Amino acid sequence: MTSDYHIHTSLCKHASGAMEEYVQQAVKIGLDEIAFTDHIPLPNGFDVAHRMLPEEMDAYLKEIEHLQKAYPQIKILGGIEADFYDGFETYLCEFLDQYKFDLVILSVHFINGWPKGNWAFSYSFSDKTQTEIYNDYLSALLRGVQTGLFNIIGHLDLVKSAAQPLLQENSALIKQILTEAKKQNMAIEINTSGLRREIAEPYPAFSFLPLIAEAGLPLTLGSDAHEPKHVGFAFPEIEARLSAFPKIKRARFRAGKISIAERKSE
Ligand SMILES: [Zn+2]
Ligand SMILES: [Zn+2]
Repeated sequence: MTSDYHIHTSLCKHASGAMEEYVQQAVKIGLDEIAFTDHIPLPNGFDVAHRMLPEEMDAYLKEIEHLQKAYPQIKILGGIEADFYDGFETYLCEFLDQYKFDLVILSVHFINGWPKGNWAFSYSFSDKTQTEIYNDYLSALLRGVQTGLFNIIGHLDLVKSAAQPLLQENSALIKQILTEAKKQNMAIEINTSGLRREIAEPYPAFSFLPLIAEAGLPLTLGSDAHEPKHVGFAFPEIEARLSAFPKIKRARFRAGKISIAERKSE
């Protein structure tokens, strides 16, 4: 089975295409399953320019329900891409409890303490070394995993710069994140959006695969589609890489519960 577990909608204001077009694209390329995972509303209008409004949640979930009925040939899940940001824990806990999502992706896009508007993939600092920047990001990610509120670690090494591999000096913290993720029964996402960016590799990089295998963590694949044509982006390339790691299983989600998916090739 092939699933794309990371798909946005125009509700986040920086993606295009109707939700139905994403479904049609998924059917066209032969996916068995997709999850809509648009950007979660955050408190006090935080980063409101790139996410849904709280009052849009009902329309989002209703459209997913409608598409589930209209396209029975594909499994459509209702998920969310939730930011972890220090200080938002109570909000996140209450919000995620209110909606019974099939899956919740943990993403660190912003870091409390960094200058406002500094995205984790376009940061700029004059007073921090690359290793410190990586440590800030990875420590926030670890705290997010430890909350137990999330199902999948999204774009794990989003902060990476081509100038310094993330695994080089921060491997202890990364191993800690993977160990904790295993304890929390999470999955790791291979996010192919990096292949559409200058960095030209997925998040996380292929060099993480041996660590993921060692930690016994299952994977999900996500295109992070912001346009219908992104659905399933570069999945054959990823599958080809993954064939060297037969021990790595694929995770499946239903109503927030993880299970291991059977592979067609097995
Ligand atoms: Zn993201
Ligand atoms: Zn995303």
